[in-house]
Amino acid sequence: MINNLNSKRTVTVIEGDGVGPEITSLTIDLMRASGAMFDVELAEAGEVAFTKGIAGGVPQDTLDSVSRNKVVLKGPLATPIGEGGKSANVTLRKTFEMFANIRPARELPGIPSPFSGRGIDLVIIRENVEDLYAGIEHMQTPNVAQCLKLISRVGSARIAEAAFAFALSQGRSSVVVATKANIMKLTEGLFKSEFERIAKGYPNIESSHILIDNCAHQLVMKPEDFDVIVTTNMNGDILSDLASGLVGGLGFSPSANLGYEVAMFEAVHGTAPDIAGKNKANPTAMILSGVMLLRHIEEFTAADKLEQALLLTLEDGIHTFDVPGTGAVGTLEFSEAIKLRLGSLSSYPTKTHSPLAMKKLWPEDVDVTPPSRSKDGLDVLIETNEEAQVVAQKIQAALRDDNFRLTMISNRGTRVWPGAPSNATQVDHYRCRFLATKKSRWSDETVSRLLAQIGGVYRWMHIEKLESYHDKPQYSKAQGED
Ligand code: ATP
Repeated sequence: MINNLNSKRTVTVIEGDGVGPEITSLTIDLMRASGAMFDVELAEAGEVAFTKGIAGGVPQDTLDSVSRNKVVLKGPLATPIGEGGKSANVTLRKTFEMFANIRPARELPGIPSPFSGRGIDLVIIRENVEDLYAGIEHMQTPNVAQCLKLISRVGSARIAEAAFAFALSQGRSSVVVATKANIMKLTEGLFKSEFERIAKGYPNIESSHILIDNCAHQLVMKPEDFDVIVTTNMNGDILSDLASGLVGGLGFSPSANLGYEVAMFEAVHGTAPDIAGKNKANPTAMILSGVMLLRHIEEFTAADKLEQALLLTLEDGIHTFDVPGTGAVGTLEFSEAIKLRLGSLSSYPTKTHSPLAMKKLWPEDVDVTPPSRSKDGLDVLIETNEEAQVVAQKIQAALRDDNFRLTMISNRGTRVWPGAPSNATQVDHYRCRFLATKKSRWSDETVSRLLAQIGGVYRWMHIEKLESYHDKPQYSKAQGED
């Protein structure tokens, strides 16, 4: 039972499924006991919503509560297994465009890990709405699937801005962007270049780039050297779990999801149904998420007090059963031990925090529509099991005008025509590149004619227009293409 105080601030609380209700209610109790002033509006999502037949897992009342209060503390939510049911977590994240996922990974006292004693204290900032997670997938042929990786200029600028603003709010001195821009020059490259542009506005914070594979390596070799890492959605998904593993696992990992309107705080772990209701859950990740929430609503004193009491409890060797060693207690006893220590300091200092001042960016703020744009040609993807030489001959024979010229065919990104037959395994999916012979004659009508001519010999399933901006091609070349 949560009593309200009629304070100016109300937080929407979604207790969630599995261990959610137990760890959420004690977290609110501790936040209040630390002196924070806020009221609570309980809202439903997850299993209870799915059983009522709400497909997205989040009832309208809950969405209204989140819109009204703009700050959410959320327990883990169950996602129905199998096709059809959408994750309630994803529904919330997408509805309120919470584009920044913030995952701190900090060494905690008394929590053993292979890296204990190294002083790890880093934050991964993951772009959370774009990239391969846009969810645009197709089976292009019975044997080849496609997932579109979409990276926007504004999405990249926003997350870079969030990373620098977050670093400033915690007095952190460096932000590194981790990408695969050496291979994905356009998508990951755009993310990198927007980061570098935004970095110029933060001259007092050190900024640099690291390739994502090297970042993973360095995170294991020298994790204590990292401060803030900002990265794309897929990279961040993997790196942030890796970072949790460095400091004791998901049971100790809090997170924040930030958008321009709404901020949602949650533990990274799932519903842990195997231990639900057994007084066994480790509430640390949830409590640390509560600490992040308190800082978000600028209850800095209460946040520091709660964080210190938690750190001191762990330092005193008190922990839940998931941590090896003596001193294990139940969830409630752990929470009571924290409460008893409110007002005392651990030997692990808390950083000074200031309000997060995230500059809002909209598409028009970053628009760089180039004045000079030319249409170079067309990539047409076709389905066939025939040899590349045969494909080239048949397509060339099918072309009945000279608006386009077939210049290259690739299979899974490797050029297979012109040139000697490739030894690489080939699948029923070819990309045929056509260049316009006279750009002045390019039109959607000439493109339609080309497609009709190709369609007479092969099934095509996808086209992509090839453009240059300021005479610079805005499309990748195939492996082996000149
Ligand atoms: P979900 O389907 O919601 O992701 P899950 O059980 O597959 O649930 P987690 O909830 O992350 O995934 O749990 C993985 C394992 O870690 C389980 O054995 C669980 O008991 C344990 N675990 C997860 N969270 C905690 C916690 N807060 N305290 C103790 N153990 C936990």
